[in-house]
Amino acid sequence: MAKAAIITGSTSGIGLGMAESLAGAGYNIMFNGLARDEKEKNAAEEVAKKTAERYEVKTLFSPANMMKPEEIREMCAWAEKDFGQVDVLVNNAGIQHVSPIDEFPEEKWDAIIAINLTAAFHTSKAVWKGMKSRGFGRIINLTSAHALRASEFKSAYVSSKHGVTGLTKTLALEGAPHGITCNAICPGYVMTPLVQNQIEDQMKAHNMERDEVVEKVMLYKHAIKDFAQVHELGALAVFLASDEAKMITGVSIPVDGGWTAR
Ligand code: NAD
Repeated sequence: MAKAAIITGSTSGIGLGMAESLAGAGYNIMFNGLARDEKEKNAAEEVAKKTAERYEVKTLFSPANMMKPEEIREMCAWAEKDFGQVDVLVNNAGIQHVSPIDEFPEEKWDAIIAINLTAAFHTSKAVWKGMKSRGFGRIINLTSAHALRASEFKSAYVSSKHGVTGLTKTLALEGAPHGITCNAICPGYVMTPLVQNQIEDQMKAHNMERDEVVEKVMLYKHAIKDFAQVHELGALAVFLASDEAKMITGVSIPVDGGWTAR
């Protein structure tokens, strides 16, 4: 039976890159992402369909909201039933909010902790029994350089990502007797549509050329003044999912151009 992966937040950016890489390696894919209306749902279903055709794998799309544990459990059960197994779980869905602590909206704190951290507990719990019974599982958490370092004005994001680092280590220990590994990928800046738009905004705000914005505003913490690309993160996920990575567990792997070497 073909191996299967659930990737949360895979309708855009890094999650979509992960889905392409894992589908390219022959995995059936459960896509997931927010679909606030029929148009967004159709667009997400189209992404899943195109991926299935291109890589000759099976795909599904679930609009499960990562803030709703019941929807998370339904998504995981659907993947398990339709694909017959879930070998890989990529906890990727994430949101950000930037604000000083005294002005930080409480509902933003709650949403960031729910989506970035608590959802990874619910997904992992939901796939755990199946992985344990088959003696194989790979949980890959998309954290951030902010799982290892802080930046001002990102209290909720940094706290949520540091929390996932703790979850990663704990699941590594609990999974060890059952062939389940759990690791985190910690990107610095990654070239996604979100970041592309930020560059254009910063060019206007600072009255700078693109290269200057990239080097002086965005990548000043990177030693390598470049962005990671989503397929590079996808290639790492494919490796972490493989049999050859069986001894790698409980670690946070920076893909940050040297940011956390400082
Ligand atoms: P993105 O905004 O392009 O995509 C986020 C995805 O999450 C989308 O598919 C969206 O639909 C989904 N999502 C958001 N809220 C959801 C919810 N409540 N329920 C279900 N799905 C939801 O983001 P991205 O830049 O690809 O980031 C993906 C992950 O990588 C995040 O965890 C982010 O913190 C992390 N990360 C990104 C960067 C970067 O430079 N882009 C750097 C470090 C870490």
